[in-house]
Amino acid sequence: MRKNIVAGNWKMNKNLQEGVALATALNEALKDKKVNCDVIIGTPFIHLASVVNVVDKNKIGVAAQNCADKVSGAYTGEVSAEMVASTGAGYVILGHSERRAYYHETAEILKEKVLLALANGLTPIFCIGEVLAEREANKHFDVVKSQIETSLFDLTAEDFGKIVLAYEPVWAIGTGKTATAAQAQEMHAFIRRTLAAKYGQEVADNTSILYGGSANASNAKELFSNPDVDGGLIGGASLGVDKFMPIIEAF
Ligand code: PEP
Repeated sequence: MRKNIVAGNWKMNKNLQEGVALATALNEALKDKKVNCDVIIGTPFIHLASVVNVVDKNKIGVAAQNCADKVSGAYTGEVSAEMVASTGAGYVILGHSERRAYYHETAEILKEKVLLALANGLTPIFCIGEVLAEREANKHFDVVKSQIETSLFDLTAEDFGKIVLAYEPVWAIGTGKTATAAQAQEMHAFIRRTLAAKYGQEVADNTSILYGGSANASNAKELFSNPDVDGGLIGGASLGVDKFMPIIEAF
């Protein structure tokens, strides 16, 4: 059955020392706790190897926030999926709306990134979600369906089974404006139906679908209580143990 997951996305926050300190503190907070979800932290590239070294891998998974769409070579400034995997990180966040909007990552580019992540044994946490104008025009279901189809639906059922999805309505990210629990459930159920139509009910039922967008300690319980919401991708509230732990404990 699918896993419950709470994943932090630190974005471009915390220098190396601060990041290692945060990971160490989270590791400490989780040490003697039994929690009902997998915990992942998505750090900047340069933190990965150091963070992997200070966390108990049975308690905390480590994710990159991106990887290159090329295997290797003359791509100055890029970091390959193989490099990410070589740090000991097990996950990579792909298709985040900030990458799509600011770095022009297209469905085709993301498709390549997903394939390279999988080829290197990384679990992609693949983000999808509509902007406000699309929701207001009642196009949010079509947009999300198309994002999934164009980047993921060439995968075999076996490979698709390795993907974690994160529904992140763009209008809710970093805005303090969370989707209601009903809006999240409605979209997550739609996503699961879309997966079932393509890969069958078993694959759909086994896929973890996280919600992201201003999730925090006060709304996590309500969001996570929905049958199709399997956890959260957490930005701002993952930057402190005091804010992140209550979200983990909402399960
Ligand atoms: C995110 O960046 O994935 C995110 C959900 O951010 P926030 O929680 O800050 O809205």
